[in-house]
Amino acid sequence: MAQQEDVFKKIVAHAKEYGFVFQSSEIYDGLSAVYDYGQNGVELKNNIKRYWWEAMTLLHENIVGIDSAIFMHPTIWKASGHVDAFNDPLIDNRDSKKRYRADVLIEDHLAKFDEKINKEVEKAAKRFGESFDREMFCSTNARVADLVSRRDAVHDRFAKAMNDNDLNELRQIIIDEEIVDPISGTKNWTDVRQFNLMFRTEMGSTADGAMNVYLRPETAQGIFVNYLNVQKTGRMRIPFGIAQIGKAFRNEIVARQFIFRMREFEQMEMQFFVRPGEEMKWFAYWKEWRMRWHKALGLGDEKYRYHDHDKLAHYANAATDIEFLMPFGFKEVEGIHSRTDFDLSQHEKYSGKKIQYFDPELNANYTPYVIETSIGVDRMFLSVFASSYEEQKLEGGDSRVVLHLPAALAPVKCAVMPLVKKDGLPELARDIVNDLKFDFATRYDEKDSIGKRYRRQDAIGTPFCITVDHQSLEDGTVTLRHRDSMEQERVKIADLHTIIHGQVSLNALLRKLN
Ligand code: ATP
Repeated sequence: MAQQEDVFKKIVAHAKEYGFVFQSSEIYDGLSAVYDYGQNGVELKNNIKRYWWEAMTLLHENIVGIDSAIFMHPTIWKASGHVDAFNDPLIDNRDSKKRYRADVLIEDHLAKFDEKINKEVEKAAKRFGESFDREMFCSTNARVADLVSRRDAVHDRFAKAMNDNDLNELRQIIIDEEIVDPISGTKNWTDVRQFNLMFRTEMGSTADGAMNVYLRPETAQGIFVNYLNVQKTGRMRIPFGIAQIGKAFRNEIVARQFIFRMREFEQMEMQFFVRPGEEMKWFAYWKEWRMRWHKALGLGDEKYRYHDHDKLAHYANAATDIEFLMPFGFKEVEGIHSRTDFDLSQHEKYSGKKIQYFDPELNANYTPYVIETSIGVDRMFLSVFASSYEEQKLEGGDSRVVLHLPAALAPVKCAVMPLVKKDGLPELARDIVNDLKFDFATRYDEKDSIGKRYRRQDAIGTPFCITVDHQSLEDGTVTLRHRDSMEQERVKIADLHTIIHGQVSLNALLRKLN
């Protein structure tokens, strides 16, 4: 664990040192859980957004995009349930004076049971070797059976307490399970209280004329309230989807783990409108398709898993998370939710406008059902960044830090370097940059030794380095160095474009999804 924390610290430091992520307002000592993206970070982030946007809107002819405002009529948040129910259950430890989410404390406690169970199973698997029967072992080993039954009991109590919104019971679970504060190590807990996560501000200039408005805590409502506009003006037929990328704001109380939990973050959400009764079919479709989108990046299939929800929001009839193996364990990156007709019906009720669809095939009106896919850009960024980071020992005692970013997402695709700063090499290198820059993010670098220049590009994940030497002047070839293998090959300048394009284009990545 300590080792994992160490790696995570290094990843955070690397993100800063190489211009990916900075603490917001750093020269004023920072603003908690708010971050800025630097010169390389913004490129990686934009590439992630493009991958999502194009996968949604280009590959599905029945999905269109919108860009709705952050401020919306406050009644929208009443209708959506956020004013009354967008709360976190909080608990304070009287000794450390720290505040925690009660549900997260219990979830972490449950994860410890799973860790213990897995350890036992792994130990046994080693002992029994080939003949190991996992299921048999789990059902017959007394220690494992005991752990499983204790975990299930806590889990059931927890799921019920969350569903019933029973704050006393949440506290009681923490007491009964003897959960301690990770800082003070004590069990001196306060009551559990609800805390609304929406940021509120005022719109308008005069005190009595001002209206309370919220910074949106999700982008989805901007889609629901535009459902009629898009359906009518786009002549959309069900099933169809509306996609949106934009900022969302939540006054998270327990804000830690770098850009995993932020107060200002970005979401990529898609609401897919379907016939009532067909929602489970589409839920299954999106569950599979979104996982395919993740896995196509090649970060390692074993790093993903689904986590089906026990606690369904009152409007949902199915929900699952796609979790990714972060340096601090499997964590939610994306949620896929079957939201029934809850949102559209609520907006119909609160706005007094009819929000229905006339289905020409059925010759009937209905309120569409909705499947939502909702992913955080920043969490996606963290999963790509953290899993790409590697400290490599090289032959001869040397070492390097390399970011194995998926080439289509890398901020810089290729760097062109004259071996020396004379003899016409810089001029030829510049010519190559001037040709490649129209298609790829290309950098020119002539400073320091060639080895140091390679390391700099490795550290920001540049897939290709192109070195121009004296031979280049004679025969029109250069050295092409590959980031991951560090292999170098001699290629014609005229072939560079095709070779690079084959590896770094978003197009190739999107084609994997078809
Ligand atoms: P969590 O349980 O971690 O608080 P959530 O279930 O509230 O997340 P959703 O409301 O389903 O999250 O939001 C959809 C996605 O938005 C999440 O999967 C996540 O990627 C992203 N997201 C939510 N809250 C934050 C945050 N505070 N910082 C960064 N990303 C977030």
